[in-house]
Amino acid sequence: MRKKDERLRVVKDDEARELVIAVDLGGTNLRAATVDPRGRTHDHVKHHTPRTDDAGQIVQAIIAAVRECEQRSTARGARIRALAIALPGTVEATSGVVMNAPNIPCINGFRLRAALMGDVSWPVLLENDANAAAVGEMWQGAARERRTIVCLTLGTGVGGGIILDGKLWRGADGAAGEIGHMSVEPFGHACNCGGRGCLEVYASATAVVRMAHEGLTRYPGSTLRALTQLTAKDVYEHGLAGDELAREVFRRMGQYLGIGLASLVNLLNPEMIVIGGGAANGWDLFIEHARQELLSRAFPVPAQRVEIVRAACGDDAGLLGVAHLAFEFLRGEISGTEEAVAL
Ligand SMILES: [Zn+2]
Repeated sequence: MRKKDERLRVVKDDEARELVIAVDLGGTNLRAATVDPRGRTHDHVKHHTPRTDDAGQIVQAIIAAVRECEQRSTARGARIRALAIALPGTVEATSGVVMNAPNIPCINGFRLRAALMGDVSWPVLLENDANAAAVGEMWQGAARERRTIVCLTLGTGVGGGIILDGKLWRGADGAAGEIGHMSVEPFGHACNCGGRGCLEVYASATAVVRMAHEGLTRYPGSTLRALTQLTAKDVYEHGLAGDELAREVFRRMGQYLGIGLASLVNLLNPEMIVIGGGAANGWDLFIEHARQELLSRAFPVPAQRVEIVRAACGDDAGLLGVAHLAFEFLRGEISGTEEAVAL
């Protein structure tokens, strides 16, 4: 009798029967969940990403998390339709090879999709994590109902994703949307990418900490001097409490961010710019400076109309984004190179 009830419940809850397993492969954590077509997540799994120089161990860790999700969801009568992975690198579309993944160097140049397809029978999609986050925010987050958006993630670095008229803009090689590497200071600090003066070295959590250290000698009375291991959160909290150095750091961060935003607005005329990531928690201290810089540099019509908002999906943005791309693929809404990614 109980079995019958359970079966009825599963049939009634129709949208939860067809699921995608989404994986967010980060430099520190590997997270996975099943996602249903309405954008609800289930069966969350979180592990440490293996610290290894063997790509095979990364594949094993992904598959282990996938099996956990699969077992839990199939026990409820659900069916898995695809595997979708957000990762911190560029994906070469036709081959499924990962390029340029500095946080997980062992998968640089690795045929990740082919390796995963040796273990699972579903279509496998790979996407850059910042691109995926932009799609997630458009599907379930701050940019619902919007069609042309830019999404920035201010974390250890600065990630970016661009959606034009509802379509993720990957560029010719899957390398588009690297907003963190727009140059905002021609003779500025060196960046990990090999460039100089990139937005990432002025508007990330790492940049906030560096700028605070740089300012300590100019602000001998700063309350930040008492701290041994500074974090971006410390700088924010001291800024809220009125510390002049901390406020100066976020003012500069906001100005550099605004310089970047002005270029994005002039180039793309987005409806909305969504800003997430850990360093976005300093919002109150930097966003007005960013807005002022944007208004002073961009053309007035697109600068006045663009909405600048905080991201709403939190850590799930990437999971939701790749799941949405997988559902689009399953419905046959995307074609061409994207299809090649999945098959
Ligand atoms: Zn750079």
